[in-house]
Amino acid sequence: MLFTIDWLAGFLPSFKGQLDEEIIINEVVTDSRIKVNKSLFIPLIGENFDGHEYVHQAVENGAVAILWTKEKKLPQSLPSDLLIFFVDDTLLALQQISSEYRKEVNPVVIGITGSNGKTTTKDLVASVMKTTYKTHATKGNLNNHIGVPLTILSMKRDTEVLILEMGMSDFGEIDRLSKIAVPDYVVITNIGESHIEYLGSRKGISEAKMEILNGLKKEGLAIIDGDEALLKQLHSKKNVRTCGYDSHNTNVIEKCVVGHSQTNFQLSDGNSYSIPLLGKHHAKNASFAILLAKEMKIPTANIKDGLNSLEQTSMRFQLVQGINGVSVINDTYNASPTSMIASIEVMKQMEGYQERILVLGDVLELGAYSEELHRSIAHEIIHPITVVYTFGEEAKFISDEISRMSSAIKVEHFTSKEELVGDLSSYLNPGTIILVKASRGLKFETIVNQLTKK
Ligand code: ATP
Ligand code: MG
Repeated sequence: MLFTIDWLAGFLPSFKGQLDEEIIINEVVTDSRIKVNKSLFIPLIGENFDGHEYVHQAVENGAVAILWTKEKKLPQSLPSDLLIFFVDDTLLALQQISSEYRKEVNPVVIGITGSNGKTTTKDLVASVMKTTYKTHATKGNLNNHIGVPLTILSMKRDTEVLILEMGMSDFGEIDRLSKIAVPDYVVITNIGESHIEYLGSRKGISEAKMEILNGLKKEGLAIIDGDEALLKQLHSKKNVRTCGYDSHNTNVIEKCVVGHSQTNFQLSDGNSYSIPLLGKHHAKNASFAILLAKEMKIPTANIKDGLNSLEQTSMRFQLVQGINGVSVINDTYNASPTSMIASIEVMKQMEGYQERILVLGDVLELGAYSEELHRSIAHEIIHPITVVYTFGEEAKFISDEISRMSSAIKVEHFTSKEELVGDLSSYLNPGTIILVKASRGLKFETIVNQLTKK
């Protein structure tokens, strides 16, 4: 059970139907197709659909109560025992219910934002917290104004730690999410360039991320990327700790070695840790989780176990075996300039390959900054990278810029994915590693499939 109808009526006073404290709600749903015994259906109004039109289906699938927008006409033939709560705006009501439920269950809440690394950090934190506490965390990437409330409303009543990924594309969004969640801890993983189109500059992006502090409890703690100059103004604050490679950080990553299947590092706390993820940036994500775990009094042995047993979300920098023993890194889930540079860095860090090939596609949604940012990615592409193939109008700026700067790297731009894959055939052997990365819209997993098919 999540809550009783009585409880809901305590703050949603306008309703039709018979209140009965026996009536319980097991789940809150916004999708009328989901079958649940005794759900509360919240009809949302989206770009393409209006949930109000699906109320009959929701009832058939188990809704015993619904929210309804006051100014909309109620349809005929709804069951007489259906409880109907009238609200001005169903989205705001969803957020309000989640905020009340957060107060009711009252777990330790951890909010995570940043341009890159939110999901990875969320998964690392969850993996560590799970060793010691009843933990609930965002599923996948449900990190927006609907996903965060739904995540809160899907935690069990005995949850001890709630971990929320918070994403955004404009000012004010993280402010709202943070005020709903009222976190005990917040993390800002890094500042990149995602959504620069709306936020104007990296400084704008940093200000939008810092909104996560607005809902933080007064006695709460913020843990941030200490290597990022744009967050420096936070360093002197009493309730801020920093993680990173610079020696001034609260948690300094001292020795970091990227292997073939894991990254090992030492922290200034004197302990060594290992994570089944590749790249120095992930050691930083892990250091946020370690600091949080220590604040939560989790023993070091449990922290190490938790980090080791991380379950990875697929398509994010996954090393897979391809045709003829070639190593392929599937990083096709998404891309931003920062994450593309991070992945290229890891390619440089990995030992034991003669050919290191980048297959890069467009990073989308960069607006007027697109050309400049794609050209800046090219500046990171140096020895020991040997070959760069690009596909897509924006990615062409990467290959143009490398050709302008260097003749040591083989560069080619393609207008067909098939041709691109065909041209890789002579490189397919165990001495080669190929990184495949682009924004979601480019569907680069088709290239990975071609390189790995039996
Ligand atoms: P989204 O906005 O899609 O939800 P996210 O913030 O959840 O992204 P992840 O999915 O965890 O980010 O990671 C995406 C990519 O970002 C990774 O594959 C990696 O290349 C890069 N990345 C992860 N952590 C960092 C970091 N701390 N600094 C820079 N880049 C990072
Ligand atoms: Mg994410």
